[in-house]
Amino acid sequence: VIEIGQPEHSVVTTCAYCGVGCSFKAEMRGEELVRMVPYKDGKANRGHSCVKGRFAYGYATHKDRILKPMIREKITDPWREVSWEEALTYTANEFRRIQYQYGRAAVGGITSSRCTNEETYLVQKLIRQGFGNNNVDTCARVCHSPTGYGLGQTFGTSAGTQDFDSVEHSDVIVVIGANPASAHPVFASRMKKRIRQGAKLIVIDPRRTEMVKSAHIEAEYHLALKPGTNVAVMTALAHVIVTEGIYDEAFIRERCDWSEFEDWAAFVAEPQNSPEAIEALCGVPAETIRGAARLYARGGNGAIYYGLGVTEHSQGSTTVMAIANLAMATGNIGREGVGVNPLRGQNNVQGSCDMGSFPHELPGYRHISGDAVREIYESLWGVKLDNEPGLRIPNMLDAAVEGTFKGLYVQGEDILQSDPDTKHVAAGLAAMECVVVHDLFLNETANYAHVFLPGSTFLEKDGTFTNAERRINRVRRVMSPKNGYADWEVTQMMAQAMGVDWNYQHPAEIMDEIAKTTPSFAGVSYDYLEKMGSVQWPCNEKAPEGTPIMHIDGFVRGKGKFIRTEYVATDEKTGPRFPLLLTTGRILSQYNVGAQTRRTDNVVWHEEDRLEIHPHDAENRGLRDGDWVRIQSRAGETTLRALITDRVSPGVVYTTFHHPNTQANVVTTDFSDWATNCPEYKVTAVQVAPSNGP
Ligand code: SF4
Repeated sequence: VIEIGQPEHSVVTTCAYCGVGCSFKAEMRGEELVRMVPYKDGKANRGHSCVKGRFAYGYATHKDRILKPMIREKITDPWREVSWEEALTYTANEFRRIQYQYGRAAVGGITSSRCTNEETYLVQKLIRQGFGNNNVDTCARVCHSPTGYGLGQTFGTSAGTQDFDSVEHSDVIVVIGANPASAHPVFASRMKKRIRQGAKLIVIDPRRTEMVKSAHIEAEYHLALKPGTNVAVMTALAHVIVTEGIYDEAFIRERCDWSEFEDWAAFVAEPQNSPEAIEALCGVPAETIRGAARLYARGGNGAIYYGLGVTEHSQGSTTVMAIANLAMATGNIGREGVGVNPLRGQNNVQGSCDMGSFPHELPGYRHISGDAVREIYESLWGVKLDNEPGLRIPNMLDAAVEGTFKGLYVQGEDILQSDPDTKHVAAGLAAMECVVVHDLFLNETANYAHVFLPGSTFLEKDGTFTNAERRINRVRRVMSPKNGYADWEVTQMMAQAMGVDWNYQHPAEIMDEIAKTTPSFAGVSYDYLEKMGSVQWPCNEKAPEGTPIMHIDGFVRGKGKFIRTEYVATDEKTGPRFPLLLTTGRILSQYNVGAQTRRTDNVVWHEEDRLEIHPHDAENRGLRDGDWVRIQSRAGETTLRALITDRVSPGVVYTTFHHPNTQANVVTTDFSDWATNCPEYKVTAVQVAPSNGP
């Protein structure tokens, strides 16, 4: 007799929320998921988990899931349920018609950082092989694309340098523009443990997050900088390290180009880069910057962890390079306890970048203009590849508004809710003739779609996710896809409808193709993952067991490259009309735009988005805690409730973007990173005023 709730069997798989990539045992009774139990042998989590991974899986069976394909000729028409065959034939015909009418480059696609490596690989392959262009981009465009650019330029590879275990050897931990206590809780616990053991903590963040001070830890230094001044602060830290002579000359001479270092050192030593010179600009006392610089340079093993508070700026790529400069100058690269580590947001954002989701790169971060690399794929796929980079997401939307881009395939991403300047995104989508949304739910983007293809959850598919430490973890199917097909099968059927000859029987075959064509994955196969549990790329002949720590004997690019990082103020300025700076973040119980966590039957998931405002600014506006307020920017306005707190400084307000009714991105601007177009979500000049509610 089976008691209610008693599992019959279990399957080890990987959490589909954040970039920590915790392993779980999915305990099943038949096709029913009874519970998720953190897996003690999971190398990323060692038996730990947070509330999201453990309890927030109810969305998989939520009534809002769309299980049948739907089409409509016009977005004002009602949806019509159709067979898979009709939906895919309609899509293929529409994309072909658009290309015939407007040119080969008039269509493109967006891969998902929620989907597996194999699914992402197939979407970029469909676009390159089936659409015949490079108009592929990913949601990393709006989060960690500056990491790809900045670390690629300085170190030679677009990924974090350390494994999570490394933090156990750190003496100084620097957290910049990230709140791992909310966004990466399991790794935050490991950081906090190390801090309780005696490691010193420096937090660089406009807001006093839980990392600055909580029950068991307190930062040595909190640099509560004004949003938008990251580069000035990083350069001031470098100024102290150079002018006080506390850099690591032996490391720099051996591992970097000394003359490039000298050029950079002369630049950062200039008086306008001193802490005293930028104190008024960034709002951080000069002595705090000096103290933090000395601690990082002299405190032993120094490790930097950063998040979207670094990348989502008009100087996001510059800040990433400034961080890399600091690590090289102090010799904090290439061993346990040190390094530069982006805390990746979504479960597979690292993987989606690795798999060639950018319009200028084939899998493994190899530029599309490289003849030798293109030839590998051309001979395997039997097509001639375009050697010019395609369109990024913002370029696709601009081109749509201009009338030259007409068809889009979006897998597992809600660009209308998550991309900046919502009105512009809506205008771009509305101007297209065939928008295909492949997702679990009718999301906001689907309001502009002509075809809806039902997606599958992580519980319904086999594959792999790659976490923030480059660890490739297996995702295992624990139940049948409720919509009939895993996402990789849907993409394959779409390719077949377009006349492309694919015949993968299992995602393992897709991984075999990835390994065959991508040097950093050459040693990866499902059999090997079964044997090893998981493995960190690069995994190949040189590193058969994978690479927990990168750049040990030398940088991937050869010599580490120091790059001048000049501070340039954002064009987003405060003034009498918009006197406050809005910045954004997340709470522990919600995940991104909340599509999954809001559909889980637990009251904690329904916390609303609030606007944090300093008591001084609240008093000036006659606000009390919980009052409705209207936030207005140059881009738009929205309404939500105020939370009066001194976690934010005077002049700074903060909110989250988990609920579609508050739509924080209605107010964010369309300024973006100079190198990658990553939107400047973290700095918006706003006015806040009392309101009667939405
Ligand atoms: Fe999932 Fe991240 Fe929580 Fe781990 S820390 S359980 S990966 S959401």
